[in-house]
Amino acid sequence: MTEDIPFDRSFDLKAGVVKEIAPQVRALCAGNSGPFTFEGTVSYIVGRGNVAIIDPGPDDERHIEALLSAVRGETVTHILVTHTHRDHSPAVPAIQAVTGAASYGEGPHRASRPLHIGEINPLDAAGDMDFRPDHVLRDGDLVSGSGWTLEAITTPGHCANHMAYALRETNSLFSGDHVMGWSTSIVAPPDGAMSDYMDSLHKLGKRSETVYFPGHGNVIRDATRFVQSYIRHRQGREESILHRISKGAADIPTLVRAIYIGLDPRLVGAAGLSVLAHLEDMVARGVVSTEGPASIAGTYRLSARRLIAYRLGD
Ligand SMILES: [Zn+2]
Repeated sequence: MTEDIPFDRSFDLKAGVVKEIAPQVRALCAGNSGPFTFEGTVSYIVGRGNVAIIDPGPDDERHIEALLSAVRGETVTHILVTHTHRDHSPAVPAIQAVTGAASYGEGPHRASRPLHIGEINPLDAAGDMDFRPDHVLRDGDLVSGSGWTLEAITTPGHCANHMAYALRETNSLFSGDHVMGWSTSIVAPPDGAMSDYMDSLHKLGKRSETVYFPGHGNVIRDATRFVQSYIRHRQGREESILHRISKGAADIPTLVRAIYIGLDPRLVGAAGLSVLAHLEDMVARGVVSTEGPASIAGTYRLSARRLIAYRLGD
């Protein structure tokens, strides 16, 4: 697979060491590195004096201490959460206990669609089921403090309750795990949904922010182009899935082997779920057919409509 996204796999933060990375923005990495988290979750502090924290991170004592000491002498007025995966929101209660700040988010953790009969959510363990925001945010809601204004932007797909936050004063945006510079985002049904994810990418693609602060990895400096490359990457992935199905690949393990060459073995399960996410979307659009709802064990074929289009050389 050619690298069609200009990934940045360098990392400018040291775990536990807070750094001012832009006007009004300080970053602190939790150091929870791994195949899904890169060097770790990045928590952000917005403003000076009266500040907001975005994504306090995992329930990790060392990180919580580092975050609290980074804001010592200041007042934390808001805690915002991009989404409720366990590497982003579980530190909220510990930060609230010390600061008394109110929490903000789209809502509690939930799957992107109702589960099919007998289906289990393979990402259940990754969800923070305890988080309940004190204040529920809707698309377009504004949260402001001294010298900063954050606009909530619903961006479901990676997680049903995913929110990005635009920092109005500097035309930048906290992109959570929706757009990251080091890797593509994981979209795994039923926790996530590809049709929502693509809609959310197009939504950000139409906005003006040029700098993104992601949940993992470095700042993205050319965000507008980066989002377009993310969109093209997913469209390309969809095309290769369709191409492989047209050549006879009918199940997800076969598709993963054909498409993800040289994949880290720890990511094979996630790749299968990502292919399922695309198939679910294509079944909904009538491009691909399967028996019953799209599932990880299902067999897939081009829909009659798509087959005709292929034969006509479309
Ligand atoms: Zn994350």
